[in-house]
Amino acid sequence: MKDAAEPAIPVERALEIVLRETAPLEEERVALPCALGRILSEDIAADADQPPFAKAMMDGFAVRSSDVATVPIQLSVIEEISAGKMPLRSLLQGQAAKIMTGAPLPDGADAVQMVEKTRSPAEDAVVILERVASGANVAPRGRELKRGQKVLSIGELLTPARIGVLASVGRGSVTVRRRPRVTVIPTGDELVDCESAPGPGQIRNSNGPSLLAAARLLRAEVEDGGIVKDDSVALSQSIARGLRSDLLLLSGGVSMGEYDLVEKALEEEGVEIYFRKIAIRPGKPAVFGRKGSCLVFGLPGNPVSSLVIFAVFVASALRKMQGAPEVHPGALSAILAQPVSQRPGRTAYLPGTLRFADASVRIEPLPTTGSADLAAYSRANALYVIPSDRDRLEAGECVRVLPLDSTLR
Ligand code: AMP
Ligand code: MG
Repeated sequence: MKDAAEPAIPVERALEIVLRETAPLEEERVALPCALGRILSEDIAADADQPPFAKAMMDGFAVRSSDVATVPIQLSVIEEISAGKMPLRSLLQGQAAKIMTGAPLPDGADAVQMVEKTRSPAEDAVVILERVASGANVAPRGRELKRGQKVLSIGELLTPARIGVLASVGRGSVTVRRRPRVTVIPTGDELVDCESAPGPGQIRNSNGPSLLAAARLLRAEVEDGGIVKDDSVALSQSIARGLRSDLLLLSGGVSMGEYDLVEKALEEEGVEIYFRKIAIRPGKPAVFGRKGSCLVFGLPGNPVSSLVIFAVFVASALRKMQGAPEVHPGALSAILAQPVSQRPGRTAYLPGTLRFADASVRIEPLPTTGSADLAAYSRANALYVIPSDRDRLEAGECVRVLPLDSTLR
């Protein structure tokens, strides 16, 4: 049970523990259309040179650059080569071939003069109006990639461009780590579903939907465990079901109140608890444990607190499960736009607006009434960090920031 005197552990230490207990999930093979946002668990090499042949980069005429050293000069046009066709003949002295962007250069040619710098007096003749250097407007074979060269590495997030790279090297499917299964259980006697009108003393359950969404954004397969009352039996039953996932998130019921029963229920269900309090603001009462391969977070009920703990700790665990390299949340920095202060002793993660302005990245603190102010938090695109030993940060200081709602990176 929670001991009022038990000290809260520093954020860094809590993160270390979370990552220590988090194991990457098994690998699976996915088809390219399903690979967006997943993390590679194999290295990828080019299967062939890219481009696979010397390729025209302009519409125009393939020439021998030595033929056009003095211009204007008329050459005879021996064929037309479009993209997807192979040249039929080699270019001899005094000859040119009409060529389209993407088409293979004929043997003997070493440059392309763009059509705008030519004149065509007849079907089988071209006048080259300007000189071209050897290699001009030609991508030599293997310019972008050499066969066997590594193009993507284990741990890389599959972005649209990287999916394009996979396709270009002939990979229709890739190995990634499977998506974590996450169950979310909001707890509290006062909670009603978002579509109900709250009765006296009741509030709508916002943590359920927001935490499910946060997990989905990190590619989790989510399950809504449903609202559970502050009742030991009901809690135990729901927890037992939730422990079948890879990660179980509970919200509420982890403070010092009479009806804060989550921790006890977790222990009764065999969850080993590693910490119960973090020296963080907001979100101090945050429980973390594990049973078998299921990680469990008991998040504070206040909506902002639960999302902050998610952003700092849960997101890191979900990323590691999927094979992402461990990136410290708050590894980026920005210039603070206004002074801020806090009572020292805890690391504060506060809502702000990150702006790219005047060649610098600035963070503007947002006004907020605190951990229940979900509306203010929803305006933020980042959190800024006040270290636990600081009571004030000045405008112009460099602060650590944690962008919100970005993907797996
Ligand atoms: P607790 O952590 O259970 O003491 O709850 C702290 C505060 O968060 C209380 O004001 C609760 O009403 C509120 N709260 C708890 N769970 C939720 C929820 N699922 N959605 C919105 N607010 C909640
Ligand atoms: Mg409660």
